[in-house]
Amino acid sequence: MIKRAKELLQKYFGYDDFRKGQEDIIGSILAKRDTFAIMPTGAGKSLCYQVPALLLEGVTLVISPLISLMKDQVDTLENMGIPATFVNSSLSYAETAKRVDEVKQGKYKLLYVAPERLEAAGFTSLISSLQLALVAVDEAHCVSQWGHDFRPSYRHIPAFIQQLPQRPVISAFTATATEEVKNDVVYLLTLKRPNIYVTGFNRENLFFSVVRGENKRDFVLNYVRDNSDRVGIIYAATRKEVEGICKELKRAGVNAAKYHAGLSAQERKQNQDDFIFDNNNIIVATNAFGMGIDKSNVRFVIHYNLPKNIEAYYQEAGRAGRDGEASECILLFASQDILLQKFMIEQSLLNPARKNKEYQRLQEVVDYCHTPNCLRKFILEYFGEENVPEHCANCSTCTDDSRLVDITVEAQKIFSCIIRLKERFGSTVVAQVLKGAKNKKILALGCDRLSTYGIMNEYTEKEIKDIINILAADGYLSLTAGQYPVLRIEEKAAAVLKNGARVYQKVPKKKERLTGDNSLF
Ligand code: ADP
Repeated sequence: MIKRAKELLQKYFGYDDFRKGQEDIIGSILAKRDTFAIMPTGAGKSLCYQVPALLLEGVTLVISPLISLMKDQVDTLENMGIPATFVNSSLSYAETAKRVDEVKQGKYKLLYVAPERLEAAGFTSLISSLQLALVAVDEAHCVSQWGHDFRPSYRHIPAFIQQLPQRPVISAFTATATEEVKNDVVYLLTLKRPNIYVTGFNRENLFFSVVRGENKRDFVLNYVRDNSDRVGIIYAATRKEVEGICKELKRAGVNAAKYHAGLSAQERKQNQDDFIFDNNNIIVATNAFGMGIDKSNVRFVIHYNLPKNIEAYYQEAGRAGRDGEASECILLFASQDILLQKFMIEQSLLNPARKNKEYQRLQEVVDYCHTPNCLRKFILEYFGEENVPEHCANCSTCTDDSRLVDITVEAQKIFSCIIRLKERFGSTVVAQVLKGAKNKKILALGCDRLSTYGIMNEYTEKEIKDIINILAADGYLSLTAGQYPVLRIEEKAAAVLKNGARVYQKVPKKKERLTGDNSLF
């Protein structure tokens, strides 16, 4: 069968070979096993159900949350000669019934539906009359509250499957790999003894970089000017920010499309199409944009604000370079963005345990922004990969020419201060004490009487916080979960205090102060 699958890959899709993981996943589906594939964005999930759909007897039902893209997806398949259709709420009942009828007559191999449709009894009974060979659940993490895009309608999928006269093979696809989501998908979609495949999360062609301490607007303007012939996505956290960046770009003569949930459906579709069909090189968007969009020539993805977790970051950044060509993923870090994300968590309707989890996940992104180590290694280890090389030669850490600066003394001062404060405060208070701040809170707490008060007054509060972040990212310090995380000393820090183990930090050349040899910034 797999030989036949390869022939179809060449015939319909025009590709010579399967990518990593695809062959095993397709083999598993063709062996009629429930199959759960976890692959990074851009790795090629769709093909893993589209090829089996051509080979299995009967129809493949694809459940996808992407109503606005269904028509395009189906058009693409039809253009390749693969008979496919879709039904969603944009169609009348009569049109839906007509299409389902055509599916019954064997006119189509794939039928795309939105999960919301499965809640309508009339619709499910229509579908039940089809001979379904395979149900492919796309973006399967949407079934889990732990995922970054929970859709309650996904919870109707098992009941729908159960009332089918014959249970088809079930396959689920997602780019989200946390344990909670993995378990939820298997359990909530009632997968039976599934074969689970987690394919390599590495996307070799992507260059990852973190930019800290730059003026973000200037950075974006310069970058866009220098890369005017390239296609890119700029993600921002809020609608307001999207509008602001668009305006700035326009003022600089760059016509960028915009996309956020505040626009009308029609405007969103228009702007999305303008980007997809190359009328606009650049789109500025909130995270509402991008799921399911298969635009292969995106050369850069810039995150103007901190994303809420590594998962979301990798998914969004992964929209660069689907064609395998070298592309850049740039994250612009500014500490105010941490507050913005915290605010969003606090405003959310999540229960306290869930909120804590989200704070923790946010902290991981902050760590990513401060790690002195290889960024790719950080990401791959986050996704549970083992034996990841120390250096990738394709991220801002591995390619920078900064020098190592000994920050042992600064680290010792910070650790001592945290201990004097009995590990009861977060980085703001610790930085203010070390700076010797005279604000009400510090004085009311009596911190000015501590021996560590003001011992780093040659630094700004922000610089001290930066060092604290670096020490946390490197495992010397940890932060408790919650809205107001408290700094704790880790064993690694104790070794620095006790035995004088040295602490180093990479400092980019241009950030070194001209005065004072040992100063950091
Ligand atoms: P995902 O859903 O995992 O994000 P897609 O299914 O959209 O990714 O595929 C990403 C891109 O990779 C698409 O442009 C697709 O045509 C291409 N692709 C998929 N499989 C292969 C393959 N075996 N060889 C070459 N390109 C492929």
